[in-house]
Amino acid sequence: MRLSVAIDGPAGAGKSTIAKLLAKRFNLMYINTGAMYRAVTLKAIKEDISPEDKENLLKLIDKMEMHFENDDLILNGENISEEIYLPFISNNVSNYAAIPEVREKLVALQRKMAEKYNVVMDGRDIGTVVLKEASFKFFLTASAEERARRRCDELCSKGISVNHKEILNEIIKRDYIDSHRKINPLTKAKDAIEIDSSYLTIEEVVDKMSGYITKGGSSNLAK
Ligand code: C5P
Repeated sequence: MRLSVAIDGPAGAGKSTIAKLLAKRFNLMYINTGAMYRAVTLKAIKEDISPEDKENLLKLIDKMEMHFENDDLILNGENISEEIYLPFISNNVSNYAAIPEVREKLVALQRKMAEKYNVVMDGRDIGTVVLKEASFKFFLTASAEERARRRCDELCSKGISVNHKEILNEIIKRDYIDSHRKINPLTKAKDAIEIDSSYLTIEEVVDKMSGYITKGGSSNLAK
């Protein structure tokens, strides 16, 4: 059986940073499912396809080949990992991610990736929908203020100038849509271990999760 680690949680909780470090530590493929929803949003906006235009949206997804290389998302041969984090994508992604047919297609793709590789996968519905049988499930949270502060630091370090209040509002709005949508809303899986990272360093969170994974049995770690 393949090893799979599911990490769910709200926007900016540190999921991707933690997932990348776990991937290195346990030699896993990191699947950033948020990046996949962002890629669909980027393409749709570029081609002027609104979330209401389901028919063209689904045709568009069928033409998208997505895979991960060294934690980067490659879309039709192009590395789009920087572009998908621009504010205009963050402000629109939840509306595209709330469309059932879009989710169906991306969930199928994500499951295929987990069949092929040992993975650490982060998102909103990994433990509850995509990988219900994941070897380990975590639910990572932090206060909205702290999450906005981290997101600002991250974007600033990439040279993207942002305003803390705007980022906080975007995060709160996105969390609301993600938690209240009809299909696969953001919720903690019953069997997920909840970790509040507000007062923990990245290393402390990684160590905590690694402890559970290592304790979970070496048979789970077979490659
Ligand atoms: O993880 P990230 O914040 O980049 O995700 C961007 C958006 O993609 C989320 O706000 C959510 O709307 C959507 N998403 C989702 N399900 C996932 C991963 C992300 O709906 N599994």
